[in-house]
Amino acid sequence: MTRIVQKFGGTSVADVDRIKNVARKVKAEYDKGHQVAVVVSAMAGVTNSLVRYCQDVSPDYDAREYDAVVSTGEQVTTGLLAIALQSLGVPARSFTGWQVPVLTDKAAGKARIDTIEPDRLKACLEKGIVPVVAGFQGVDEDGRTTTLGRGGSDTSAVALAAVLKADRCDIYTDVDGVYTTDPRFVKNARKLDRVTYEEMLEMASLGAKVLQTRSVELAMKYRVNLRVVSSFEENPVGTIICDEDDIVEKEIISGITYSRDEAKITLAGVRDTPGVSAAVFDAMAEANVCVDMIVQTDSSDGKLTDMTFTVPQTDLKKALASLESRRERIGFSSLMSDTDCVKVSLVGVGMRTHTGIAGKMFKALSEKGINVQAIATSEIKISVLIAEDYAELAVRALHAAFHLDRKEEG
Ligand code: ADP
Ligand code: ASP
Ligand code: MG
Repeated sequence: MTRIVQKFGGTSVADVDRIKNVARKVKAEYDKGHQVAVVVSAMAGVTNSLVRYCQDVSPDYDAREYDAVVSTGEQVTTGLLAIALQSLGVPARSFTGWQVPVLTDKAAGKARIDTIEPDRLKACLEKGIVPVVAGFQGVDEDGRTTTLGRGGSDTSAVALAAVLKADRCDIYTDVDGVYTTDPRFVKNARKLDRVTYEEMLEMASLGAKVLQTRSVELAMKYRVNLRVVSSFEENPVGTIICDEDDIVEKEIISGITYSRDEAKITLAGVRDTPGVSAAVFDAMAEANVCVDMIVQTDSSDGKLTDMTFTVPQTDLKKALASLESRRERIGFSSLMSDTDCVKVSLVGVGMRTHTGIAGKMFKALSEKGINVQAIATSEIKISVLIAEDYAELAVRALHAAFHLDRKEEG
């Protein structure tokens, strides 16, 4: 008996007709004799509206009440899909996060799943009933509803697949797989048949929102057999996320991502002595802000230098306030920030074994007159910070330079 988890994103359940379409997809697997558990998102746009309501009532909203509000979208789609399945003759029932239960920590708005109690879901599956579970939500030990961060239904689905030891976890979305770059951004983007967990993890964390980063982390940890497929195709093939050993023809570069959620902070006139960096980054750690790219040059006179680093745009205010409050201790002459920047990254396991990738990247950017403001690297990625206006040009130029463009058919 094959056990499958199917997850349907917002555009896949955007209206009643699409929910009926999803029900047919679930029925197709059910009719093959498989045990099927389903995870759904809210209808496209609904979570955004709910977030806006919270902000409009008070920009200083209580994050736990935000969770109470934004988790409601998924409850609607679970019920509607259960009804649609029943009307096709497939026994089904809806589950909210607390009914499963999906137990999370208390970090409202960005909770992490601790455990999922499998018994109720397994009982359903064994009786031939399709459980339709609300993605994106859980419950903490105080019984309060939590949400897992935007895009969190992917994580609900992978966690469920891990706990249920599912043979497969299929993520149904509005594109037919994982592409070399966002296909809405670059028309020539090419679909990847396979991509490694590691690459997918980097791509997700560097801006490819097709899968939530945490979902890939969990898939990698629990070796979940993960696929990204289209909701709008018959018999979709999609992209398989798998181990490196399961890919015969590896690409040097698998993907290019971009992220606009970047803010650059520059501290001018800092002393070029030991302990200054520690004071700066302690300030960031205490403010709970993640620092990403860091640039510091040697001072020409051995006394004063500038330090530049990036933080998520959403944390900029917090970061600046924290630095300003430590102006004396850190010692700097001025504090500047800029949100007009974007991080563009190349990702590929081939970087481990191939040289010259960085050189080729910088050449491609310089040929378009694009200035690199900061750089960060890991074993399988290179990221550059550039002016936001150049985002599209940079991604296209790199896509072409690394021969990722789709070959024209015919
Ligand atoms: P869902 O609502 O189904 O969860 P999302 O909007 O969260 O869908 O994710 C799918 C979107 O991710 C696509 O519409 C696409 O624009 C975007 N995307 C970004 N990078 C990539 C990529 N490398 N491959 C495929 N899709 C990508
Ligand atoms: N509905 C939630 C969101 O829009 C969760 C998801 O779609 O994965 O972020
Ligand atoms: Mg999503």
